[in-house]
Amino acid sequence: MISKIDHLGIAVKSLAEAIPYYERALGLKCEHREEVPSQKVRTAFFRCGEVHLELLEPTDADSPIAKFLEKNPAGGIHHVAFGSDDVTAQLKQAAAAGVKLIHEQPFDGAGGKLVAFLHPKSTFGVLTEFCMPKPAAK
Ligand code: ZN
Repeated sequence: MISKIDHLGIAVKSLAEAIPYYERALGLKCEHREEVPSQKVRTAFFRCGEVHLELLEPTDADSPIAKFLEKNPAGGIHHVAFGSDDVTAQLKQAAAAGVKLIHEQPFDGAGGKLVAFLHPKSTFGVLTEFCMPKPAAK
């Protein structure tokens, strides 16, 4: 079940250029930085109440974020991530409702989370992520 908006993903050309805006102009604090090789991005997280902002900088020309920046050169909101207690169940529910999935199975995202995306063609143009904390390894 979805319980909240976990974070907004925001595509930027350069973390080094974008982070000072969030820190100085908005007064938010960068809490966490991480590279996610599977998505070819570097991320920086800012807490904003219950919601986080996830800045995404491409590390490679064929990163999904690099492709987004080709279409949106100024950057912008890239995805909305819903926090759920069961990403696999969310994918099944969406697929059963006729939504096209980008990922059939959750995979490791930033911040120690399991994530998966729905296709924006099925979600009225909003790239939609489901995420949940990764269960502790046993
Ligand atoms: Zn995300």
